[in-house]
Amino acid sequence: MARNIRPSCRLCRREGVKLFLKGARCMSEKCAVSRRTYAPGQHGQMRKKGSNYGLQLREKQKVKRIYGVLEKQFKHYFKVAERAKGVTGITLLQLLEKRIDNVIFRMNLANSRAEARQIVGHGFVYVNNKRVDIPAYTVKVGDEVSVKDKEARLKRLKETQGALKDRAIPKWLEVDAKDVKARIVNQPSKEDVGFPIQEQLIVELYSK
Ligand code: SF4
Repeated sequence: MARNIRPSCRLCRREGVKLFLKGARCMSEKCAVSRRTYAPGQHGQMRKKGSNYGLQLREKQKVKRIYGVLEKQFKHYFKVAERAKGVTGITLLQLLEKRIDNVIFRMNLANSRAEARQIVGHGFVYVNNKRVDIPAYTVKVGDEVSVKDKEARLKRLKETQGALKDRAIPKWLEVDAKDVKARIVNQPSKEDVGFPIQEQLIVELYSK
């Protein structure tokens, strides 16, 4: 499973916003974005020229990094969104939200999407009672997502869920915390992403 192995905090600093890639640390004063407000690297503190292309590129990189998706896969999502009915940018965000690793993250079973990806990769996640161990698997409206594992590990997941109870669960998910499962009841909306995303910039970038 290919993934971006660059240090997470550098990715946030490059985008100039908190992308919440590290769970609890992101909420603490140790967060690198709060401590160093400039981009990483030798030229990080130089004044930036904001070209249109630069803005479009940064927006695309930001979304890719939030969901932990690599370029090839992101382009694939874009092509699927372009072919689908509806507004391409919104469909793109919906496809990313409906990844099974993101669903586990949204169910508050993991502190970060990287942790959620591990839970899926280890084979603990089921969709409609069938095991799914591919983090990129896309759920549909009506699907039931559940986690099955040994009692001790389920207890740990429930503890994580309890610790994250203040993190809002989006309306497109109906979560049954007691049985560690959820049903997809709607399509995610742009607001569910939880970041101010200008998806139109991504569409413009790929439409050149
Ligand atoms: Fe980003 Fe979290 Fe690191 Fe802060 S602590 S820079 S939000 S990954």
